[in-house]
Amino acid sequence: MNQPGPRVDVAIPDIAGWACGNTGIPYVWRFDGPASGPHVTIQGVTHGNEVCGAIVLDWLLRRKVRPVRGTLTLIFANAAAYESFDATDPYAARCLDEDFNRVWDGCVLDGPRRTRELDRARELRPCYDATDFLLDLHSMTDPCPALALAGRHAKGQRLARALGMPPYIIVDAGHRAGRRLRDYAQFDDPADARNALLIECGQHWERSTPLVAQQSALRFLRHFEVCDRAFLDAFIEPRELPPQQTIEITDVVTIASASFSFALPVHGMMTIARAGTLLARDGERDIRTPYDDCVLIMPAQRPKQGETAVRLGRYLDTSYQ
Ligand SMILES: [Zn+2]
Repeated sequence: MNQPGPRVDVAIPDIAGWACGNTGIPYVWRFDGPASGPHVTIQGVTHGNEVCGAIVLDWLLRRKVRPVRGTLTLIFANAAAYESFDATDPYAARCLDEDFNRVWDGCVLDGPRRTRELDRARELRPCYDATDFLLDLHSMTDPCPALALAGRHAKGQRLARALGMPPYIIVDAGHRAGRRLRDYAQFDDPADARNALLIECGQHWERSTPLVAQQSALRFLRHFEVCDRAFLDAFIEPRELPPQQTIEITDVVTIASASFSFALPVHGMMTIARAGTLLARDGERDIRTPYDDCVLIMPAQRPKQGETAVRLGRYLDTSYQ
């Protein structure tokens, strides 16, 4: 029986008109303000099927948003993967050869290996080296409330709190498979004021996801005071946002066998009250929650051997603030 394809409920902008850029690097737009200030970068399509970032960058460029101080750079990162997007097989556009968001280590970037993503990463690297503050807009495979991935240092959490959204702030060290851009070089140095935030804005193609991305971008620009305040305020939704909660990732459940299944219906940000609750079976192995009030972050609805089934986290007290 044929499975119906996933719904794509957002318009996919044609970004070919932005390919020329204005920096000598395709799909990179840089604008300098008339006064000194921070260099902020907003990035979309780190993953080519995560279209919310392309929608926001296209909107900012069409609105001719320019900095009143500092520098604003807008990057369509894996534009080539995005250009391959096909609504009949929308997951395929995540990347061309490898995950663009797992190569951000000096030894990988300086090493001999070549893929289309690594070529693009090397081309864009000077943009990040010049960036003080980066907002990297992503989305998720399965429905889940929006999350900020704040890295492992307090400065990442502070930036997420300064934006006031999204409602969940995740403290984590990234993936074993390779370093994320948000953890690249200065962004992961607690002694360096430069900072990065990755926001997972919702499910890839849900209608609300680009709105979360847009509001995140506008609040990021307002926080660093690089764009005209009246313009930003005209588009920032005035409604009060829910308080943010911080969750620390403690465990990554990787699928070891070909017969993995969750023992109960799961969804993103679900909390399991009791330690020792049976969460999943992986072949002969029972996986149980390690502590009370265990949060399931991005559980995979289509678990595959070798991949991450779910990450487990617990609410942190945020007294460091
Ligand atoms: Zn992503």
